[in-house]
Amino acid sequence: MHVPSRYEQTLAALRERPRRWLITGVAGFIGSNLLECLLRQGQIVTGLDNFATGHRRNLDQVRALVSPEQWSRFNFIEGDVRTIEACQLACEGIDYVLHQAALGSVPRSLADPIATNAVNVTGFLNMMVAARSAGVRRFVYAASSSTYGDHPGLPKVESLIGKPLSPYAVTKYVNELYADVFARCYGIESIGLRYFNVFGPRQDPEGAYAAVIPKWSAAILRGETVHINGDGKTSRDFCFVDNAVQANVLAATTTDERAVNQVYNVALGDETTLTRLYELLQERLGPRRKGAATSQLVYRGFRDGDVRHSRADISKAAELLGYAPTHRIAAGLDATADWYVRSL
Ligand code: NAD
Repeated sequence: MHVPSRYEQTLAALRERPRRWLITGVAGFIGSNLLECLLRQGQIVTGLDNFATGHRRNLDQVRALVSPEQWSRFNFIEGDVRTIEACQLACEGIDYVLHQAALGSVPRSLADPIATNAVNVTGFLNMMVAARSAGVRRFVYAASSSTYGDHPGLPKVESLIGKPLSPYAVTKYVNELYADVFARCYGIESIGLRYFNVFGPRQDPEGAYAAVIPKWSAAILRGETVHINGDGKTSRDFCFVDNAVQANVLAATTTDERAVNQVYNVALGDETTLTRLYELLQERLGPRRKGAATSQLVYRGFRDGDVRHSRADISKAAELLGYAPTHRIAAGLDATADWYVRSL
């Protein structure tokens, strides 16, 4: 007999009693996957985005994947989290905030730390202030594994962090500090999710700051050279987006007091080197398009601000949130490869 997981039970309860959600960064990669999941469960969703790095086509794609009735429960606000009024408007009547809007990418933050700080710190503070005024039940936000910085410990445990290695990492750590202070000073309930290299459908392959899986998938499908920064032994805990969606839903709805005002690793607990990642992608994409099998791998210098190894201990999320990843890396890459073949 199938015993429903905590996540399945939570989704069933949400279908019985829909809630009002706000997703900031809804036109982005993770935001649009959250939107798809919540609309499929009959939830009422407001989305906020200024299309800085997200795309209307992501929203169009979600619209095509859900029913017209589900889509009618979505209200989109084009606005900027750097503007408090936009945050206040978006937070009106909301039960759960899933704050994803930010400027991602370590290299982007090295090139323009002021822009990254404005969105990731001022925008975050605006959202917390607006969420508090609106009396939302819970504020869940995208934290980052970059907060582990130069701490050498493996696997990464939430309580042991080092010095940040980039302006981006500083901003994500400041988010955690603000969330903690807002809990102490104003009683606002929050949960930070330290994502570890999330990947999946709708992650943008274009631009100078694309993440490794979309960038390499596009290069392989085009038969182009793939560049690895460093010796290829750099490793990451790659996490399929459905697992990150699960963590958000569990974090927003948990009624366990011990689970609130905490940060959690969101990953698999696995370590994959960049060379192995290339092989996994090539196996899936090489046979799918003429010329893709000819893509070459070239090693080049290490990149500033990059962490050498990253692997999460996910036992805290498992114990306190009931987080149980549904997709290991192979299954996640299968679904992702299908999407890139269809979309590129
Ligand atoms: P993304 O760039 O696809 O999504 C971010 C979204 O935020 C975009 O739609 C963008 O237009 C929007 N946005 C940016 N600035 C904004 C502003 N000023 N006002 C309103 N909206 C704005 O990136 P993603 O990968 O989906 O990341 C989502 C969140 O997760 C970010 O906070 C990111 O820092 C965090 N994160 C992601 C990963 C990962 O592996 N993808 C890892 C760690 C943390």
